[in-house]
Amino acid sequence: MADAILSLQNLSKSFGALKATDDVSLDLKPGEIHALIGPNGAGKSTLINLISGTFPPDRGSIEFAGSDISALAMPARARMGLARSFQVSSLAHEFSALRNVMLSVQARQHRNYRFFGSVMTDATLLDPANQALERVGLASRAHVPAAELSHGERRQLEIAIALALGAKAFLLDEPMAGMGAEGATILTQLLSDLRHEAPILLVEHDMDAVFALADRISVLVYGRIIATGSVAEIRRDPEVKRAYLGDHE
Ligand code: ADP
Ligand code: MG
Repeated sequence: MADAILSLQNLSKSFGALKATDDVSLDLKPGEIHALIGPNGAGKSTLINLISGTFPPDRGSIEFAGSDISALAMPARARMGLARSFQVSSLAHEFSALRNVMLSVQARQHRNYRFFGSVMTDATLLDPANQALERVGLASRAHVPAAELSHGERRQLEIAIALALGAKAFLLDEPMAGMGAEGATILTQLLSDLRHEAPILLVEHDMDAVFALADRISVLVYGRIIATGSVAEIRRDPEVKRAYLGDHE
């Protein structure tokens, strides 16, 4: 089995008396989509926040791309290629999809401020930005302002930005939320392809998407992982059925 790109060891996090994350260990391997499911309040978003560095764990450690990142702040983790979506608010809505990608790359490169005119003709920004848009299926929408993109297209744009920034792994917290059927289908296909470039830890309520996409599923209940396995294993696990799946069968 390939070495994990992301590995959590015995993570715990309490909010007051509430154990939101309770001794969680899991990993993400190259090429896989590892889905994290569980009822509302199970601690899925808390876990994503711990991994991305929004707040520190009380206990436990996080390894990413061969380093212990437990003590790193969020921007440092992001610079290493740990991509957390979807922060749609980070888009500049008045600018085109292409310009959004280019500005993100430029910002990451800490270059001196330049006028947009020169940014837009800089091949070192333009070429990777166009490739990233092509990669997510937005090439024909490159010059459309972000504000005019559909909800699903904005999520594609966020992924393009993450790819242009060199994402090595994705943390996606309910990417299907608010999507229409068509958008969900497009995003499902995109994520399915994307796993081979950058594996995905996928928190998702849409069980159709989870069952279609996941290589492995971990089930979180009251902050604890009660099962990890393949789609088939999780679907027939009696404890999972009782605790969570219920009538998703
Ligand atoms: P999920 O994403 O699985 O629905 P969350 O991780 O958002 O669950 O929440 C897990 C529990 O932790 C919930 O009871 C929630 O109210 C609590 N919680 C989450 N974030 C905070 C916070 N920043 N401060 C206090 N309580 C929190
Ligand atoms: Mg959540």
